[in-house]
Amino acid sequence: MTDDIHDETGYQPLRPQAKGLGEFLAPVAGFGVTFSSMFKPVVTEDYPRRKVAPQSRYHGRHQLNRYADGLEKCIGCELCAWACPADAIYVEGASNADLPENADAAPGTLDADSPAGAHMSPGERYGRVYQINYLRCIFCGLCIEACPTRALTMSNDYELAGNTREGMIYEKQDLLAPLSEGMLAAPHPMAEGTTDTDYYRGDVLGATQAQVDWVRERRPDDETLDAAKAVAAGRREAPEPRQHELRPDAGPGEAEKAAGAAAVGSVRGAAGDRTGPSGAGGAAVQRTEVTR
Ligand code: SF4
Repeated sequence: MTDDIHDETGYQPLRPQAKGLGEFLAPVAGFGVTFSSMFKPVVTEDYPRRKVAPQSRYHGRHQLNRYADGLEKCIGCELCAWACPADAIYVEGASNADLPENADAAPGTLDADSPAGAHMSPGERYGRVYQINYLRCIFCGLCIEACPTRALTMSNDYELAGNTREGMIYEKQDLLAPLSEGMLAAPHPMAEGTTDTDYYRGDVLGATQAQVDWVRERRPDDETLDAAKAVAAGRREAPEPRQHELRPDAGPGEAEKAAGAAAVGSVRGAAGDRTGPSGAGGAAVQRTEVTR
């Protein structure tokens, strides 16, 4: 019958036609792949119950890094914003000398390059406003290449989701690397006797006693004081930089909850990341600027 049809239509099958038992089983032969797969290990991921870490070179959520004494590496130069092909980054720099903590300094005693007085970052300037719009970002990494101080890097955190457009604009306090144990929260003076070049070269390995004393005088309740004091006294190892990480695996009963959290801007829920007055100020200033 089949051959008759072929004869009538001129159709020539490319593969030889099965005969006998093979022809009888041909309609269900495709299920062989299904049946054989039933006995192999499952390769699908149980996300969000279990979170699989991507490769170390994965381009995930950005982070703004800190020096070992807690000062920020970003100097507000805007090179990352200019390098961004998607126009996803917005930066406003400001002078350290203009920090509110320096308002009482006597005129002329605190020029822009002075290591004394309050600093958010070493040197003259710091990033007062820093935003990344993750609705625009294409994770190309060109901003990382452009950064002259290695302030901006990318972590392995891929949990970037949100319910609102506004929620996908990450502010400075969302992007700043968490303070490691032993770092002293900014603002505070630069390590005495150092320049910004010493910081860039990695010569500052932790907070000094003078920095601790400065913070204690102005913010006696600062939670980072004790650990930083131990580093300054040599009783504790110099702090290692930290980076944003995937949130922990969820238990079986929490899978649905975790899925909901991931959708509701999970990363933005990291309230512990919010550090320092500059970030808080920036959040209020420019939330809509980057939504062009
Ligand atoms: S992250 Fe780097 S490139 Fe961007 S403003 Fe800060 S220092 Fe400049």
